[in-house]
Amino acid sequence: MALPKRDELLKDVHYDRMPEKHWMDTKPEFRPGTYCYAGDPEVVKDLGLPNPRKWQPYDEDWKLPENWKEIVLNAIRDRMDRFRSFKLFMDICVRCGACADKCHFFLGTGDPKNMPVLRAELLRSVVKGEFTRSGKIFGRLAGARPLTYDVIKEWFYYYYQCTECRRCSVFCPYGIDTAEITILAREILHEIGVNIDWILKPVRFSAEIGNHIGLQPHTIQENIEFLLDDIEEITGVRPEVPINKKGAEILFVTPSADFFADPGIYTFMGYVLLFHYLGLDWTLSTYASEGGNFGFFTSHEMMRKLHAKIYHEAERLKVKWILGGECGHMWRVVHQYEDTMLGPAPKNLEVPKCPITGTVFEHAKSTKIVHICEFTANLIAHGKLNLDPSRNDHLVVTFHDSCNTSRGMGIFEEPRFILRNVCNNFYEMPENTIREKTFCCGSGSGLNTDEYMEMRMRGGFPRANAVEYVHEKHGVNHLACICAIDRAVLPPLMNYWVPGVSVGGVHELVGNALVIPGEKKRTTDLRFQPLKGVEEEENV
Ligand code: SF4
Ligand code: SF4
Repeated sequence: MALPKRDELLKDVHYDRMPEKHWMDTKPEFRPGTYCYAGDPEVVKDLGLPNPRKWQPYDEDWKLPENWKEIVLNAIRDRMDRFRSFKLFMDICVRCGACADKCHFFLGTGDPKNMPVLRAELLRSVVKGEFTRSGKIFGRLAGARPLTYDVIKEWFYYYYQCTECRRCSVFCPYGIDTAEITILAREILHEIGVNIDWILKPVRFSAEIGNHIGLQPHTIQENIEFLLDDIEEITGVRPEVPINKKGAEILFVTPSADFFADPGIYTFMGYVLLFHYLGLDWTLSTYASEGGNFGFFTSHEMMRKLHAKIYHEAERLKVKWILGGECGHMWRVVHQYEDTMLGPAPKNLEVPKCPITGTVFEHAKSTKIVHICEFTANLIAHGKLNLDPSRNDHLVVTFHDSCNTSRGMGIFEEPRFILRNVCNNFYEMPENTIREKTFCCGSGSGLNTDEYMEMRMRGGFPRANAVEYVHEKHGVNHLACICAIDRAVLPPLMNYWVPGVSVGGVHELVGNALVIPGEKKRTTDLRFQPLKGVEEEENV
């Protein structure tokens, strides 16, 4: 089905209409554009996950294992025992409705089952029906229902219409985090082989080769050489990019999209120029060549497996600490799960210390991983960078807080501090759409696939709406962000809702503004776009 035109998309979204049927009697409609394709059986098999088979969400028969019900109930029981948060969240919701209109998928679809309160209820009702005495006796009257085949289909539909962004949790007076419920619901569905291809393929490539699209070491190196050619053409300087260098001080891990996909490549060029400027002793690893962790969207075990390789490489290469690039879920994994999930960092790692400013990053004492925005903001605060913000004067910039780095990690000030130092034109989007209350890009948590485009455009609508506001009010034409998924999914979102707004990483703008000793006079930015005033000068 073709994507509806912009003016058509939200025409039948109504927030105030009572549904005709009780929600328990309303089945999801698997309409193209609103669901993701099922996992390829070969990939499911390779990952050692249960029930590899050919199936698709629109099939009547999902070919579940015979004892699927028993598997699901055991999986719920197991998670209730292991995750206190899950047990609590299943228990304490008072149906106050404070979260109801906070989800971008509810705002973009008007579907009541996309209200966070009801999304959690999809699972809670089964927990009540199958595990509580009141639920068994009073059934629907107590908000309980049995686990049925249709419930499994409904879970799949709606737990893959949640980007695990946690916006709802900010507004819940009890701190219920529906993202955690979605994470566990997906994990439970995996146990009967209900999964999506767009998540599992990157997981397999990351586990087997090191990054999401399975780039081999020589391909990584070749890609980077192309980017260095461009840097040389633009600046007259050719930095070095050390790869798998044993004994380097710093291991740099960033999403692989930063060195192979537009517009991430420009962010990568920015990192490389910065490290060259500083004379940093760093290295990339071709094995830990992916910061993004799609295991996080699969199961806790898979998340752990993928993240562990970063530490393994830090150990093998004998680096002192790890610097992480502009990535979203890499940081949520680092900050919310790493300490308790992975145990101590390898012994060779030290508490990160900036070799230029001498700042010791005490907050990274345990993980030994520092975010590139913390690193660069610290350099700017110490006056260590020679910056010419006028080189970004062709851009009027706003900033999208990625859910994982903002709500998941609390990085609010550093990117803004950097942007204010590298750009002259920076405008914030409205207050209730940024920082902790930021709206999701609409395609996170592994939902950035083409077959899901309608739902992506619906889910991304609140974000785009806020961009449109500053686009019209201040002439904003560039959306900066610090997440590779955002860099991949915001361009189509902008093209659809707010044409004329480009998207890129913060370090791309750092790379534009950084005055490198020995560089030639720059006439273009890192995308070969003419700098402001250059065309006029050339025409004189
Ligand atoms: S975590 Fe985000 S996407 Fe999921 S229900 Fe809450 S607001 Fe919606
Ligand atoms: S805000 Fe919290 S307590 Fe209120 S309905 Fe939503 S999840 Fe339940």
